[in-house]
Amino acid sequence: MGKRNLYIKRDDLIDSDFSGNKARKLHYYLHNQFPKVKKLVSYGSAQSNAMYSMSVLAKMRDWEFDYYVNHIASFLIENPHGNYAEALKNGMNIIVGEMPNIADDTVLQIEEGGRVADACYGLEILANEIIDWQKSNQIDNLNIFLPSGTGTTALFLQKYIKDYATVYTTPCVGDATYLKEQFYMLETNEEMHPVIIEPQKKWHFGKLYREHYEIWIKLHKETDLEFDMLYDPIGWQVLLGSDIKDNILYIHQGGLLGNTSMRARYERKYKDLYEDFKNR
Ligand SMILES: *Cc1c(COP(=O)(O)O)cnc(C)c1O
Repeated sequence: MGKRNLYIKRDDLIDSDFSGNKARKLHYYLHNQFPKVKKLVSYGSAQSNAMYSMSVLAKMRDWEFDYYVNHIASFLIENPHGNYAEALKNGMNIIVGEMPNIADDTVLQIEEGGRVADACYGLEILANEIIDWQKSNQIDNLNIFLPSGTGTTALFLQKYIKDYATVYTTPCVGDATYLKEQFYMLETNEEMHPVIIEPQKKWHFGKLYREHYEIWIKLHKETDLEFDMLYDPIGWQVLLGSDIKDNILYIHQGGLLGNTSMRARYERKYKDLYEDFKNR
């Protein structure tokens, strides 16, 4: 990428029980009182980082946790691992079917992936941490990069850091149109939206790609950091191929528990790359 000043914000370290940015997004539910709530209800995929983090939240708050999925792969049922296994250990009730609409104040419903307005509380804290760091290190020109799923993290970060930095992101789940729609659902003022850079190629979320594994290995070797395998390979390819200027801050948003299954799948599929990596 030529010589650019690159910093990494280790949000993967923020809380060992939560998955990086999910700790930010669920912060509000951990630090406020909900005397009536007895149960948390959400939905999404049976492997998601958000699901695991919500299971931690429910356990800490002594709430029941009902989680609705479309489908659970039979391989996962027979060999529970990663987010799924850990969420079950935390007492998650996993239910195949549509999430019902529950009008009951003892039930807290959270949208898929923690896409909620309440996520703003934790993300304002993240923005303030970055602003403090900028001030103490006199970093005036700051461009922040992070890959998006629902776009909640990127949107609120941009909103709270608007006077200090520009946030760039790339869609990993849908395309740029989808991501823009997500932004509008949370914030109608477009001036608060992050800059979207589209990936050069169309990737299917959760599929294995040689390029993704290559860049993940390269990052591991060069930074000695383990990045997530779903969002970060896309994020880094887009960042390195972009002309975003100094100074750049990449947000490491965690997600490492979900890597256990991805790593095993990658090691099986691209044995040559794995052998090389293992023997370095
Ligand atoms: C959930 C997650 C994201 C996406 O966050 P959004 O707020 O949904 O955009 C990115 N990276 C990792 C590692 C995640 O777990």
